[in-house]
Amino acid sequence: MNIAIVGTGLVGRVLALNLLREGHTLTLFDKDSKEGVTSAGFTAAGMLAPFAELETAESVIFDLGKRSQQLWGKLLKEAGVYDGLQQKGTIITAHPQDMSELEHFITTLRNKVDEAKDIDLINSQELASLEPELGHHSKAYYIKNEGQVDSQRFLSFSTTHFNSCSKVTWREHTEVTKIEPKKVYINDSSEDFDWVFDSRGLGAKEHFEDLRGVRGEVFWLETKDINISRPTRLLHPRYKIYIVPRENGCEDIELEHCKDCKISQLPGTKRYIVGATQIESEDNSPVSVRSTLELMSAVFAMHTNFGEARIVNTETNCRPAFKDNLPRIENEEGLTRINGLYRHGYLLAPAVVEKALNEGIYNDKS
Ligand SMILES: Cc1cc2nc3c(=O)[nH]c(=O)nc-3n(C[C@H](O)[C@H](O)[C@H](O)COP(=O)(O)OP(=O)(O)OC[C@H]3O[C@@H](n4cnc5c(N)ncnc54)[C@H](O)[C@@H]3O)c2cc1C
Repeated sequence: MNIAIVGTGLVGRVLALNLLREGHTLTLFDKDSKEGVTSAGFTAAGMLAPFAELETAESVIFDLGKRSQQLWGKLLKEAGVYDGLQQKGTIITAHPQDMSELEHFITTLRNKVDEAKDIDLINSQELASLEPELGHHSKAYYIKNEGQVDSQRFLSFSTTHFNSCSKVTWREHTEVTKIEPKKVYINDSSEDFDWVFDSRGLGAKEHFEDLRGVRGEVFWLETKDINISRPTRLLHPRYKIYIVPRENGCEDIELEHCKDCKISQLPGTKRYIVGATQIESEDNSPVSVRSTLELMSAVFAMHTNFGEARIVNTETNCRPAFKDNLPRIENEEGLTRINGLYRHGYLLAPAVVEKALNEGIYNDKS
């Protein structure tokens, strides 16, 4: 089939990888550049945390998330990312005065899914054996098998991959103004396809009246002074922060696109993505002083060695969400829309795309 994908952030790329596997010819439209650096998919920390997210999510997110974890490995290899998936587990901890937060967290999870009963409470020695630099915390929960996708690497490498595919035509800097079954409109002119996929994230508000943006801010820190290897969450009564280590920089790889995609980092350092605020406002303006103070104080309290880390980048973006904060698939002859992945894009995209392709009319026609 001759297929259009409108929006090449996270969902659009996961769709493209699946559709290329089936041998289709693709035209990829994006209003911004093909590097995808303005998409929410670029800003995301890329955590794959079906258990940890359950504190505020429904169990359907857990089921889809577990399925996505099985699918990411293959997708990343197809995109040429061989070192962008880590599944060494998540550490959840809290300051001594906030231990009730830790209790509340585990009780909530255990009330939602049976598997949460197997999550281990570990003491400071056990924590030190996993993460020597966090041994000063007296207690933590260790959730095995969670992990992260290196989101910036996924976007960067998938751009290179699609560039080299003869079955892909990129139409970057092309704002699609309307989508209909089998038709893509750019201002007054339209183009015909056998099928159209709408993966515009927040750009699809002209169709979804109940779609909203939820602001999130993240910091990129680089330092030689601390070595944490697993995503780590600190529970606090007023804010929740995570520190997500990025295993690989680009120090010794000369990639043409790595400057634009901000993959390269200060020599000898390790990068940590620290986030993220969650503010009910559709506002993409730069990070606020309040968010900076809260997140940076929390990270310094997590380990004082973060004090000398360098803030190399800050990112703000809005998560596309519906009222129920659940993803939505709409299918009709000639058109599939996928949206509302909210704060779970990496956790959900492979499974949601699989569901859309398996259950949709698209499948009957292909
Ligand atoms: C701060 C932050 C942290 C996050 N952390 C995580 C995390 O750790 N784990 C996790 O699972 N998820 C995380 N997410 C959520 C995740 O990023 C989103 O759920 C996901 O990116 C949504 O994917 P999408 O493809 O729908 O939208 P996007 O990734 O935003 O892509 C939409 C694309 O459509 C394009 N577009 C829009 N309108 C048009 C148009 N008219 N014509 C052409 N192109 C158009 C845009 O330019 C963009 O490239 C985070 C999000 C934020 C903001």
